[in-house]
Amino acid sequence: MSSSKCQVQLLLKTLYLTPKYMIPHKSLNQLNSEIIVCRKCPRLVVWREEVARVKRRAYKDQEYWGKPVPGFGDASARVLVVGLAPGAHGSNRTGRAFTGDASGEFLYPALYRAGFADQPTAVSRGDGLTLKDLYIAAAARCVPPDNKPTPEELNNCQPYLQREMEILKPKVIVCLGRIAFDRIVKMYSAKNRGCKFAHGAVYELMTGHWLLCSYHPSQQNTLTGKLTVQMFDDIWVKAKELLLNE
Ligand code: SF4
Repeated sequence: MSSSKCQVQLLLKTLYLTPKYMIPHKSLNQLNSEIIVCRKCPRLVVWREEVARVKRRAYKDQEYWGKPVPGFGDASARVLVVGLAPGAHGSNRTGRAFTGDASGEFLYPALYRAGFADQPTAVSRGDGLTLKDLYIAAAARCVPPDNKPTPEELNNCQPYLQREMEILKPKVIVCLGRIAFDRIVKMYSAKNRGCKFAHGAVYELMTGHWLLCSYHPSQQNTLTGKLTVQMFDDIWVKAKELLLNE
């Protein structure tokens, strides 16, 4: 994987200006408590609650989360992972990012192999999983029909991602999929030049931080071989290398 300069300008002037006295753990807890009660997107509110009410047959006896899914991980993380949105019967059911579905079954073993997770499995919020030096966020916090949030819904949700970035000040941002990539680039600049999504692409942001692109670990990509275990492992190796470039 090669890296290149991404000529972007920091549009969000406050992005890395969080006062030092802010405690990340408390700030993230406060933010997550706001996220889980959000109802800004009427279409997504209806859909997430409908999915939680109807349920998949295999989970009929479970109580679905059915709310926005907050961020998850290490409050001191230097790596921020940005996914797309909750899975209908994964995190919309369990209430934790990438937990309880096939995408998580691909993601967490990779994070475990790379040393970012203390176990390779993620089945519920109470399964004991902890992440090290890595925090997982998303472009949208509510499950969208057909996995497609609208631009307006992504705009509604963007302030949550901005605040996570303000609090964490990540050194490396790993975008899982094009929508997450586009959202991060949009946040950084109205005029991005030379930033194109490609698996393994690395861009140095003008803040001195790194943007690393990966295909999303959805079944659509993993079952077709578009994203292999080796390709995904290489992403996390690269993320660790970039941390050494601080
Ligand atoms: S997608 Fe984001 S902004 Fe929209 S209702 Fe869910 S949490 Fe709120």
